Amino acid sequence: MAISSQSASSVWVPFRILPWFSERPWGCRDLRPWYDQIAEQEKLIGEAWLTGDQCVVASGPHAGQTLGALFAEAPESLLGKAATSNASPLLIKVIFAHEKLSVQVHPDDAMAQKYGDPRGKTECWYVLEAEPGAKVACGLKPGVTLNEVMEGISAGTLENSLNLLDVTPGEMVFVDAGTVHAIWPGAILLETQQNCDLTYRMYDYGRGRELHIKKSLEATRLVTRAGVVSARTLADRTLLMDGDYFCVEQIVTAGSRVSASLRGEDEPMPGLQYLFAADGAARIAGTGFEAVNLPKGGMVAVPAASPGFEVEDLGGLKLIRITPRWPEADR
Ligand SMILES: [Zn+2]
Repeated sequence: MAISSQSASSVWVPFRILPWFSERPWGCRDLRPWYDQIAEQEKLIGEAWLTGDQCVVASGPHAGQTLGALFAEAPESLLGKAATSNASPLLIKVIFAHEKLSVQVHPDDAMAQKYGDPRGKTECWYVLEAEPGAKVACGLKPGVTLNEVMEGISAGTLENSLNLLDVTPGEMVFVDAGTVHAIWPGAILLETQQNCDLTYRMYDYGRGRELHIKKSLEATRLVTRAGVVSARTLADRTLLMDGDYFCVEQIVTAGSRVSASLRGEDEPMPGLQYLFAADGAARIAGTGFEAVNLPKGGMVAVPAASPGFEVEDLGGLKLIRITPRWPEADR
């Protein structure tokens, strides 16, 4: 009997990804109600990685495989024609900061490639929760020089040079590569970033972790485009971040369903889509695959080769869609 093309294409269907928890000295013990996760005695969890290479697929034909293995095996099925490599382009995390994170900076693509890495790190933070007065440090104050940054590092007064922003839930902060930044306690952030491991620590409050002062100064740009991004309201979605590397949108789910594949009639089918429930819960359903549940804090990937789908609001859903982008030079 001939194998129909239907069964071949239905291998690539929406799938749930399990979070992977990363211990950090500035983290929290108890991640509930976001995740049913409590750290072991004397340990702290800082980050829930939602699309890390080591994250495990929890549903569908690829259940049990890591996301990294899946990207290595079939980049075009996941990313579509835009695939320029067989690696995951985006790392999405939820950050739980109980204390200040280190003051740090990430390289841009050019600097990363100079030192043999494929890409730099531009990121953005969507504020899921924030206590009154919660702040992040984003960029240097106007007029601060590189010399003052160096003096601040050695004197332990670098914080005085940082531009502080108050954050409130629903806000988006853009942090392009080269921006000196630090996440402060009081907020829970959904971080979307280029899938890159390069963080240069400039100052760490004496916690004893390694600093990377020389490279951090090379990566630092005194003026960047970082800051709060104004949301743009469209008919069926709110554009939170429309960047060179990623697009982050809140999808309107008025009524109980969002139909088809979350695109306008004239828009082409997007490549890979990540669906995150910032609140409430959803079910992703369609023909040819078993429906996938999306709980609060959960992540579902919709491969480029997936059949159409519907998002069913199971109550109080706040749906965030994140899609990768490629800068012009890469195409
Ligand atoms: Zn960062």
